[in-house]
Formats: sequence, structure tokens, C-alpha cells
Amino acid sequence: MPAMRSPLFHCPVCDASLDAGPRGALANQGFVRCECCSHEARWQGNRLRADGSDRRVTAAEPAPSLDACDRRMSTLGSLGVTRGRLLDIGCGTGRFLLVAKARQLEVAGIESDEDQRAQAVAALGIGMASSLDTLEPEDLRFDVITVWGALCTVDAPLSVLAWAAERMRPGALLGLSAQEPETRTQHRFTRQSISLCALRAGFEPVQVPARRSVANRIFSALRPGPDELELWARRR
Ligand SMILES: [Zn+2]
Repeated sequence: MPAMRSPLFHCPVCDASLDAGPRGALANQGFVRCECCSHEARWQGNRLRADGSDRRVTAAEPAPSLDACDRRMSTLGSLGVTRGRLLDIGCGTGRFLLVAKARQLEVAGIESDEDQRAQAVAALGIGMASSLDTLEPEDLRFDVITVWGALCTVDAPLSVLAWAAERMRPGALLGLSAQEPETRTQHRFTRQSISLCALRAGFEPVQVPARRSVANRIFSALRPGPDELELWARRR
């Protein structure tokens, strides 16, 4: 009798093919850990692919506090982002966009969840796309694109970042956090896998001034912290 073959899993960050058998997904609360890039993605019968066609993006939960939004804007401001067009991918109810708008940035958002999008539209007084594919043509270039945790909720994080790379003006910045939301998580990023994802999508890191405590730095050595912001620029 032939031995049972374990199903294969394709890592959505590095494309490695992995054994999703007893040592993989089922042993890890439904997540497969990639032995090549350390990324963890939810096992869904191998539906997750790096070239995934699902273009819906929704906010990670819970929504960031106003303080957290302020700190993010301050970090962006310290790197010279004080004017221009900002797109928040997976903007939820638009809390971060409200803070950015109050600081005179021209804002746009994408949110797949209908209720959250309606709240964001009402709060901001702007139209809003429901997926990456429904952004209006005139909205296709930005000075800053932010993805706050929403990368954990999509099927194909690499394709979301590649999409962003194509819509950045020269000198534009990508603000990224890969915190693990409470629910709807498809991905658990490590420092290594979030960096690899951004690099493969065509970005290079931008140094952010360090403000973290020693304890925080030790704790967050492996995984990005909930309030942490990574900045990337498109590779020339
Ligand atoms: Zn991998």
C-alpha cells in the first residue's frame, strides 16, 4: 500500500513549497510555518498563493488608538512627510486618515468591509474604493502609502505590496506595520518575513529613528510590535 503523501503548501512570501502534514499546519493551530523565511500563514487547503487573485483588503482589528495614529503621523513627519497624497490600504473606519487629514495631507483609503467603509466615508467626506481594483484612475499615484496590519488579513500580501510599489510617486514612502490582529488573521509575520515581503515587492528599507525601550526591543526582536512602524522606499 503506498504511503500517504502530505499536502504541499506554497509560502505566500518566499514561494517555497512546504510539507503541510503532521509537522506543519495541523501541529501549529492551523498555521503553516515556512522553514525558509519563517513566515506563518493559515492553512486553507493551499488556497493561499503568492500570486493570489483576491484583491480585497480590510483593516486589522482592533482599530488603532488616536494616540497610536498620532505617533505614526509624527514618525512620518520626522521623515519629511508633511504634505502630499496619502493612501491607507485597509483603512477600516478611517481613524488614521482623519489624523492625517487634520495634518493637511490629502487622503484616500481602500476598505473592503462595507460597514467600516461607510463609517470612513461619512467621517472623512470622501469617496472610497472597496478593493485594490476599484481605485479611480486619477487616484493612482501617492506620496505615502500605509498598510497598518491589513497585510495580515489578505490572501496574498506580496501582491498587495507590489500593487503599492506601482502607485508611488518618486521619493514616496511605504509605511508598514505587521501587528497580529485579534481576528481574521491569515498571516503571522516575523521580522524576517515582513522584510522579505517588502524586498520582493520592490522596496528598500528607510531608517526610522529608534524610540523603543530596551525591554521593548528585546521583546520585539523576533516579531514586529503592535505599535511599530517600518518605512520603505521603492527601489530605484
Ligand atoms: Zn517562506
